[in-house]
Amino acid sequence: MNGLQTLGDVTAEIFRLSPEGNTVQKRQRLRMEDEAPGAALKPLVFRVDKSTPGVVQSVLLERGWDKFDEQCQDVEDWNLYWRSSSFRMAEYVNIKPWQRLNHHPGTTSLTRKDCLAKHLAHMRRLYGESIYEFTPLTFIMPSDYTKFVAKYFKEKQDLGTKPSYWICKPAKLSQGRGIIIFSDIRDLMFKDAYVVQKYICNPLLVGRYKCDLRIYVCVTGFKPLTIYMYQEGLVRFATEKFDLSNLEDDYSHLTNSSINKLGASYEKIKEVVGQGCKWTLSRFFSYLRNWDVDDLLLRRKINHMVILTVLAMAPSVPVANNCFELFGFDILIDDNLKPWLLEVNYSPALSLECSTDVSVKRSLVHDIIELLYLNGLRSEEKKCGRTSQGNAMVSQAGRSQQKLCAAPAPPSYASLIHFATCSKRSPAAQHIYPKHTRTSQLREMLCRQNKLLTREAAKSKPRLKAWHSPRKMLSLYASQSQPRKTKGPTGILPEAGNAPNNHAGNFVLIFPFNKATFRASRNGLNVKRIIQELQKLMNK
Ligand code: ADP
Repeated sequence: MNGLQTLGDVTAEIFRLSPEGNTVQKRQRLRMEDEAPGAALKPLVFRVDKSTPGVVQSVLLERGWDKFDEQCQDVEDWNLYWRSSSFRMAEYVNIKPWQRLNHHPGTTSLTRKDCLAKHLAHMRRLYGESIYEFTPLTFIMPSDYTKFVAKYFKEKQDLGTKPSYWICKPAKLSQGRGIIIFSDIRDLMFKDAYVVQKYICNPLLVGRYKCDLRIYVCVTGFKPLTIYMYQEGLVRFATEKFDLSNLEDDYSHLTNSSINKLGASYEKIKEVVGQGCKWTLSRFFSYLRNWDVDDLLLRRKINHMVILTVLAMAPSVPVANNCFELFGFDILIDDNLKPWLLEVNYSPALSLECSTDVSVKRSLVHDIIELLYLNGLRSEEKKCGRTSQGNAMVSQAGRSQQKLCAAPAPPSYASLIHFATCSKRSPAAQHIYPKHTRTSQLREMLCRQNKLLTREAAKSKPRLKAWHSPRKMLSLYASQSQPRKTKGPTGILPEAGNAPNNHAGNFVLIFPFNKATFRASRNGLNVKRIIQELQKLMNK
C-alpha cells in the first residue's frame, strides 16, 4: 500500500473517531497550552472588532485568554486578531512573530463566485477537464453572455421538449441573496457581476428535502501550502420538499439557513430531517451508511476537490507570515453521489442559531486555536520573551527582540506526523484536567442531546424508494471503493507507520499528503507535480 492510499484511509479513520471523545482529549491537552503551566507566561491576548463572531470571543475567554484593551495595553501586546473583514496590507507587513491574523491576503480571489470560476477555468485549461470537473458549468456575466446563449440553445435543441435548468447568482453576494433559478432564458435577469451556472437538478434528497454540506477548511499557510480539513461540519436543508415544477420557491431550492430559518416549515418536524434545517456532518454520514453508501469514498472525493480548489489560487497568493484562513466550502451531492463544489465562503458564518451550530462551531473555534499552537504560537512568544512580568516589560522585550525573531518556521513534514503521536493525552494532563467547569457541563449536555438525535435518526431508518436507490448508485462505485481498514489497538491504522496521521483536534491535515507533495510545496509550489500525485490517487 502506498502513502497516498494510506493517507486516505487514515483520514477516513480519523473522521470516524468519536468527535466528542476526541474533543475532550484535545481540550485537556490544550488548556495546558492556554494556561502555560508554571505561569512563566502571561495569558494570551486576543483582539476583536464589531464584526468578530461572538463565539470566538466566548471560546477564547473560556480558554483563559485576555481581551485586548487598547486603553491600557501596548499596541503590540496581542496574539490573535480575529475579524470577519480582511486586514489592510500594513497590518500584514507589521505583524510580529507572536501575533496571528485570521485572514491571509489575497484569499478573496477564491471566495468571489466569478473569481473562483475564473481560477477553475484556468486550471481546466492547464490540467484538463477531467480532473477539474467538480463544478457545475459556469458562465461569468456579462462577459460570457454570448457563450451562455449558444450553450442554452444547443442544450434546448438536444433535450427536445425536456426543460434545462440554470441558476443565476450575484458574484459578490452571499446567503442566497439575489439568486434566481430558471429554465426559460427570458426569465434571466442580471446586472453587474453575476454567474450563471448549470442547476444541479438531481440533488441527493433526504426525506425528499434538498441539502448541501458546509465543510470547514483551514489553510494555515500558503507558502508552503498546508491545508487542514475539519472532520465535523454542517448539513443544511431546504425546508420545503424539492420540486422542479416550482422554481420560484426558495425554501425548496436554496439550502441557506439564513433563508430557511424564516420558512413556515422551519419549526415543523419534517420527514427524516426533523425540526430546523441543520444536521451535523457526522449525522449525515451515519445516515448515508445506513443506506450502505460508501461514505469513505465520498469523503476522499471531497478531500481531492478541496486540494484542487486551493491549488487553483495558491500560486497567486502573496507571501505573508503568521496568517491563517478558515474557508467554508459549500458542496452539493447529487443522486449519483457525485460531490459538486458550489462556492467557497470567506469568513464562514459562526453565528449560533441552533444546538447543531453550538456543538459544531464552538468546537471548531477551539480546534482552530489548537492549530495555532501546532504552528508555534506559544513557542514564538517564549522566544520573544513575552513574560508574565507586566505589559510594559513585555512590549519592551517584544520590541527589542522583534528584530531577532524571524516569523515562525512552518512545521516540517516529520513534525507534522510527530504531532499526532504527541497529542495523545499525557498522564500529567490527566492529573491536571479536566476542570469541571460550567462549560464542560454544557458540552456534556450537548453531547447527550446529539446522541439522542442520532438515536432518533436511527429509528427512522431510511426505506428504499424508487427516487433514491443507493444500492443501484453504489454499484457505480463498487469497483473503486477500497476495503475498510480496522483500527489497531492504539486507534491508529496498522499500516499507518509509513503514512501521516496528522490531526489537531478534529482538523485533519489533507495537504501535503505524502513526501512527494511535501517536497513539491516547499521551494515554490510545483502545482503540476502535485496534480500528478493527486491523479495517481484518483485513478486507483
Ligand atoms: P450564496 O453565496 O448566496 O449562498 P451559493 O452559491 O452558495 O450562493 O448558492 C446558494 C444555494 O443555492 C446553495 O446553498 C444551494 O442550495 C443552491 N445552489 C447554488 N448553486 C447551485 C447549483 N449549481 N445547483 C443546485 N443548487 C445550487
